[in-house]
Amino acid sequence: MLKTDVIIIGGGSTGCGIARDLALRGISHCLIEKGDFAAGATGACHGLLHSGGRYVVNDPEAAAECIAENMILRKIGRKCVEETGGLFVRLPGDSKNFRDRFLKSCETIGIDTEVLSPSKALDLVPTLNPSIEEAIRVPDCSIDPFRLCLLNIVTAEKKGARIFTHHEVTEIIKEHGRCVGVKAREEHTGDMKEIRGKLIINATGAWGDRTAILADCTVPMTLSKGSLIITNHRLTNMVINRLRPPSDGDIIVPNEAVCLAGTTSVPVLDPGAVEVDPREVDIVATEAEMMIPGFGTTRLIRTYAGVRPLLKSETNDDRKISRGFRIIDHENGLYSIIGGKLTTYRLMAEKMCDTVISVFGLKTRCKTADTPLEGQERLSGYPLSKRLKKLKDIVCECELVTRADVEAALSSVGSRHIGDIQHRTRLGMGPCQGGFCTYRALGIMQEAGRMTPDDSMRTLKEFLQRRFKGIKPALWGDQLREEQLVESIYLGILAMEREE
Ligand SMILES: Cc1cc2nc3c(=O)[nH]c(=O)nc-3n(C[C@H](O)[C@H](O)[C@H](O)COP(=O)(O)OP(=O)(O)OC[C@H]3O[C@@H](n4cnc5c(N)ncnc54)[C@H](O)[C@@H]3O)c2cc1C
Repeated sequence: MLKTDVIIIGGGSTGCGIARDLALRGISHCLIEKGDFAAGATGACHGLLHSGGRYVVNDPEAAAECIAENMILRKIGRKCVEETGGLFVRLPGDSKNFRDRFLKSCETIGIDTEVLSPSKALDLVPTLNPSIEEAIRVPDCSIDPFRLCLLNIVTAEKKGARIFTHHEVTEIIKEHGRCVGVKAREEHTGDMKEIRGKLIINATGAWGDRTAILADCTVPMTLSKGSLIITNHRLTNMVINRLRPPSDGDIIVPNEAVCLAGTTSVPVLDPGAVEVDPREVDIVATEAEMMIPGFGTTRLIRTYAGVRPLLKSETNDDRKISRGFRIIDHENGLYSIIGGKLTTYRLMAEKMCDTVISVFGLKTRCKTADTPLEGQERLSGYPLSKRLKKLKDIVCECELVTRADVEAALSSVGSRHIGDIQHRTRLGMGPCQGGFCTYRALGIMQEAGRMTPDDSMRTLKEFLQRRFKGIKPALWGDQLREEQLVESIYLGILAMEREE
């Protein structure tokens, strides 16, 4: 049995942020995540480091948190943040009254804006709809959620935190009415671990109420699914938002070599069972097309969906629910932290850790706003031309991942999960969506003794099923042709449909 001070359940941005904050304050802890880091909403979001513009009119408190955190994260997390800048574009028919309220609210909160004529906006983003009425420039950025989680964990691990990914908390142990520990099941072997702690933090996002129930507690939540689409190349180097009250499909975010567009807002009950409805793809692509003509006919390489963990509210409209966060003291040693944004994860962690510190009767202050994320020096930040010279033995052509990258990820995580390699190297995230490189990476994992031939065949089949689920709603044109090629290789040449 393992003993620690604080047990964090959930390895999304909130849980990973809490782990780093506790580490910097010298509090021993352990983090338990049922998948890999960023397996929930964190890995399924737009990757927009909000300037706050999106919320400024309807939710000024959340907007103020966003702009403050935006400035902190670009300072401490340079290699996770791309300072793209953002535009809010007003199309013919969009309300002028909303535009005036937008500018006034930005000024009140302290979000820098610059009103641009259509020609100035088109100079910045030539692919924009030329009939825009105007654009307002804001300090939006693009952020890599996987990288962010991994870098937060570096400090926690260095300071001796125990981190268990692929472990699901199935039980919260109570003694004399207090929560004193958890039991967690390892995904692959089914082995159970018992971990005891003085305080337990429920950072399980959309699963927050399910986790609280394990301790006979409740968390009032509303779950809202959002679906997104990915294009096979960048159609804009700036974040593009529609200047209107938040609604479907009004954000486009550049990320590495691709662009993400979303999202929708559909109430759901089960955060673990979400699928993209092809109608959502049509809605998002049509709306994106209005901001960037040609978006709708660009090759889409994948769709995905995530579930927002929103605090329950009086309104029935998910978009009107505040994006603020709340810490709930269940008064039995369990605390839940719910709501917020990826953008505000550090602030959420700070407030949660302030609570821990006061429960423990300590005074250590938060250092995360001034301390750069550790491990960034290892990340590539230099031009592609230099990277190409060093490349040997490429496993994933789309994302230029080498055999050495895969082997390094394998030895650092000691993983049996192809997803762990993908998150750490970006293998399989390009146009072929892992159609070719997953097969090679599994071969490397097999050679390294991480899996048997049977395991790798089972994993490959599971991967191909999952991949198809994400690609299916966006299958037409070139992507359909590529999918048919992948299918004929796997079914025709490799005879994957045969049981043996
Ligand atoms: C479609 C969409 C787009 C979004 N876009 C943006 C954006 O662009 N910018 C932004 O700032 N915010 C965005 N958000 C909001 C943001 O993604 C979330 O607020 C944030 O990621 C929540 O992080 P979290 O760590 O609280 O939850 P999650 O990331 O969901 O993490 C919870 C974790 O808990 C784990 N877990 C659950 N149950 C258990 C258990 N029993 N045992 C162990 N582990 C468990 C899950 O596997 C999961 O990894 C978006 C959200 C959605 C859904």
